Amino acid sequence: MPEGHTIHRAAQDQRPMLIGQPIAMSSPQGRFAAGARLLDSAIATGIEPIGKHILYHFDNGRSLHLHLGLAGKIYRSPKPVPPPRDVVRVRMESATHVVDITGPAICEILGVAELKAFRLRYGPDLLAEVPDPARAIEKIHASRSPIGTLLMNQKVISGIGNIYRTEILWLLGIHPLTRGCDLGTDILIRMWQKLRDLMLIGVRYDSIITNGDLPKAGQGVGERVHIYGKEVCPKCTGPIVVSRLNNRTLYHCAACQTR
Ligand SMILES: [Zn+2]
Repeated sequence: MPEGHTIHRAAQDQRPMLIGQPIAMSSPQGRFAAGARLLDSAIATGIEPIGKHILYHFDNGRSLHLHLGLAGKIYRSPKPVPPPRDVVRVRMESATHVVDITGPAICEILGVAELKAFRLRYGPDLLAEVPDPARAIEKIHASRSPIGTLLMNQKVISGIGNIYRTEILWLLGIHPLTRGCDLGTDILIRMWQKLRDLMLIGVRYDSIITNGDLPKAGQGVGERVHIYGKEVCPKCTGPIVVSRLNNRTLYHCAACQTR
């Protein structure tokens, strides 16, 4: 499952291909034919990621809402392109580019009121153009759930997956089972800012890099992390404890991360 930086990177890459242009919209597979007709020829006005969701906004007041899920993919190419394969749920075509979507878990149209309701259902996105940390901090403060659970709850904060969760708690020396209501505002503001910085690096390199080891030109980019999937803590050389929380693997250092 992609973390939020992947979706932001996809949005960033597609904006110059689509925004400000009328979009020929079709559903070669047929399953989104009625939706595609409602958006066909409308001008794309924005591409907005919210957590793992991506919204394409159009000048007729409608938005295309996608969630790629486990199997969904976005393919983009400059024109000319060959005819679409019959698995393509949505094809968006501007004057210069074609974007094909296959296998999305969610593919639907939202009107203005539905879009507003959608935004309210999810916690603020770390990389939103207008950041809204106060809404996430308020929800964390109000909860007795562990911070390790709250960071993965997309209704609290959008876009964080297991790797960013693991790394931020280690970086700030916070035990994952610390209750949200026991964390001070200062540390939560630092957490928001640091997560935002890390995810901006993720967008730039299209890969999760949390340990500051930025790839040099020509180097391959893989994940570069402190403790996720590791056995030894790089700070104290003690063992990394592996456990389960809400059905996901949890890593932490018992010495460096205290309650
Ligand atoms: Zn340690």
